[in-house]
Amino acid sequence: MPKKIDNCSFCGRSRTDAKILIAGREAFICDECIGQAQNILREEFSIESEKKLSDLKIKKPFEIKEHLDKYIIGQEEAKRVLSVAVYNHYKRISIPANKAKSDDVEIDKSNIILVGETGTGKTLMARTIAKMLDVPFCIADATILTEAGYVGEDVESILSRLLQAADYNVAAAERGIIFIDEIDKIARKSDNPSITRDVSGEGVQQALLKLLEGSVVNVPPYGGRKHPEQKMIQVNTQDILFVTGGAFQGIDKIIASRLRTNIIGYNFNKEIEKINKDNLLQYISPSDLRMYGLIPEIVGRLPVVSFLHPLTKETLKRILTEPKNSLVKQFTRLFEMDDVKISFDDKALDFFVDTSIDFKLGARGLRSIIEATLTDAMFELPSDNKTKELKITQAYAQKKFDKSAASKLKVA
Ligand code: ADP
Repeated sequence: MPKKIDNCSFCGRSRTDAKILIAGREAFICDECIGQAQNILREEFSIESEKKLSDLKIKKPFEIKEHLDKYIIGQEEAKRVLSVAVYNHYKRISIPANKAKSDDVEIDKSNIILVGETGTGKTLMARTIAKMLDVPFCIADATILTEAGYVGEDVESILSRLLQAADYNVAAAERGIIFIDEIDKIARKSDNPSITRDVSGEGVQQALLKLLEGSVVNVPPYGGRKHPEQKMIQVNTQDILFVTGGAFQGIDKIIASRLRTNIIGYNFNKEIEKINKDNLLQYISPSDLRMYGLIPEIVGRLPVVSFLHPLTKETLKRILTEPKNSLVKQFTRLFEMDDVKISFDDKALDFFVDTSIDFKLGARGLRSIIEATLTDAMFELPSDNKTKELKITQAYAQKKFDKSAASKLKVA
């Protein structure tokens, strides 16, 4: 009997004709058919991603703002500006490719820069929008970035993070949102490049520019430069929305001096007095960012400029109770799970806010202060079947907080 020759069960190619023939339980498949099957899969997946893109339900600015209102207290101007910018951005990328070609108007990308003290809600805003749109989101700190070849992270590493957030779905990553924090820290130290040339800052800005402009970038999938042999993934940044943020300490002086030189005439003194009293950030303009040390090309790529107010005592108190996932709501839920009804006196809330201000911790400090206050209760009550109610008064909060380690963390 002649020896049976194995064939590919799909194309019939024999083992001798195929480079590789893989055997299953009752069938074989050759390398060419595997390749074809892979192409089919790839096409299907990209159709899926395209479909998802057209599924991306663009919310109107009003709806975006309404959503932001649920999580972010105050900051009305920034919320409005951001809502419009995000709406325009996703409108722009949802234009089907065939329509875009016949249309000679190309809508530019509207990357955003938010100026405001740390802890005022810049990251929270970007994150809330990404979550609402269900697009990949990542945060990068500009201070860890360096020019290629220096110690630190290459600018491309930001895209590695976005890819990770997108579970390596390149199409999804390509319409994600990246928040770049502390962009002010890579500003050139002097406005005049010929006198004090701060090469490192400018070099990083140049590298960042490439991403902001929209280009195809080779990205190491797992970040870093530790595996030079790893295969690169190409990511097009054209439709990625960049939201950048920074405290820009001292920029108020630049704004003030610009405003003063602009005021001429009769009401001079009154106007100057008003300017000095106002939160000057509300007058921020791209020229101030240039003066501060961002290169003109970067400023040009961040056309949407907005600002955040410093958090007042009233805002901090509202942050404690009003957002959809406010700290008070979160802790109430945690205690509820142990059948304990917790309530907070108004004075206790004041205590949390005052302590946070006193410790110079801002909104971020509120959580640690409440945690420290409630640690004993959270430790004891789950094993205590009798206590069904816990009232947090100012005296209780003060006593528990003072004995906690957190109370020693006061910044002088
Ligand atoms: P930034 O990016 O400006 O440094 P974040 O957005 O990280 O500040 O804010 C830190 C935390 O403080 C947030 O996670 C949030 O809990 C709280 N927070 C700050 N500002 C607000 C705000 N306006 N509304 C609600 N929560 C806020």
